[in-house]
Amino acid sequence: MRNEQSEPSVRTDVETENLDVLSSTQNVILEALQKLGYDEQMYQLLKDPLRVLMVRFPVRMDDGSVRVYTGYRAQHNNAVGPTKGGIRLHPNVDEDEIKALSIWMSVKCGIANLPYGGGKGGIVCDPREMSFAEIERLSRAYVRAISQIVGPTKDIPAPDVFSNSQNMAWMLDEYSHLRQFDSPGFITGKPLVLGGSKGRESSTARGVAICIEQAAAVKKLDLAGSKVIVQGFGNAGSYLAKFMFDSGAKVVGISDAYGALYDEKGLDIDDLLERRDSFGTVTKLFKNTISNKQLLESECDILVPAAVENQITQENAARIKASIIVEAANGPTTTAATKILHDKGVLLVPDVLGNSGGVIVSYFEWVQNNQGLYWTEDEVNRKLAEILKRSFKTVYATANRFKVDMRLAAYIVGVRHMAEAARWRGWV
Ligand code: GLU
Repeated sequence: MRNEQSEPSVRTDVETENLDVLSSTQNVILEALQKLGYDEQMYQLLKDPLRVLMVRFPVRMDDGSVRVYTGYRAQHNNAVGPTKGGIRLHPNVDEDEIKALSIWMSVKCGIANLPYGGGKGGIVCDPREMSFAEIERLSRAYVRAISQIVGPTKDIPAPDVFSNSQNMAWMLDEYSHLRQFDSPGFITGKPLVLGGSKGRESSTARGVAICIEQAAAVKKLDLAGSKVIVQGFGNAGSYLAKFMFDSGAKVVGISDAYGALYDEKGLDIDDLLERRDSFGTVTKLFKNTISNKQLLESECDILVPAAVENQITQENAARIKASIIVEAANGPTTTAATKILHDKGVLLVPDVLGNSGGVIVSYFEWVQNNQGLYWTEDEVNRKLAEILKRSFKTVYATANRFKVDMRLAAYIVGVRHMAEAARWRGWV
């Protein structure tokens, strides 16, 4: 059981740069709609979620005291189908971040052609400082607070930063108690015995690995022996490091929230995986660490940011050595940095494509729950690869056709379905 993503502590603040994830997302949505020939009304519809619920709920702590936590659930757009997206448990969660994340989910589902709109949830808390029992009470209380607006045909949650299959199991149990019927399709990323899908836990990383293969083919880079840096050692980062290590690439750098390890001869990923904790922390066990910031600028061919937002900014973008960047985290690269990297000839696979393996297999999980018939891992992986290869090719072709960077191309592909669905419904 792994948490969906881990986080480094470094946040690079550059005064002149827009680090506000919501407004920068809105700018890309606007540009994408303009390229597609939509007018201002469509932008007004898609620039913000249709619904955002803020909840406050008390949780009894182990020492008998009560703490009141704040949570959110944003539903960006349900023109295509029910909304879908993870729940993050993190001290930096705020309303704008959750709104932006819900928009990214819509775009992600649009690129993969899933019958969903985007949703996202978050609880302001630090699960690293809470006991197992406290996290259980918190997870259950959050579900009670948002239960009216979620459900298998309304809005389907999943894991995100610092949440995992155990949180999903508690949330499913709470929901089933409330509704008084078995409802495995209410949430995805569940343990296998509760209706989870084979291959879901490693799906985000598997998707990133497929994008790396596709990007390497475009760049004519031989993956065997290539140098890979993975920032973040949570669910996505740790599985990805393992996949790359096993495939013969050299994983020269990894990091967690507290620091980074770099060795140009390659790190022993199996050993690091054995020693990480459930939040992906491992560097504390080593003396010769460098910072996350240094890691990003270290020598490599492929860089995978698999942690949190705003890690590659206009301040450090020019110093990035990689020729391929695949975003496993949501929002690790700012708009200004995206432009610098694009001009430098770096092939950047944006989050909405790079990490979409997670939601794609979540969709498979929901389909299996709905039909009550479960697939083999091979079947899941084959279908995932099919969708991701097609998605990559479409986004890459769109970037060439419109002569834009891969992020804008991904948004052009991703918003199209939503906009078309909204038009058919007569909303705009
Ligand atoms: N939290 C993941 C994401 O950001 C997965 C969402 C899902 O599976 O619904 O894509």
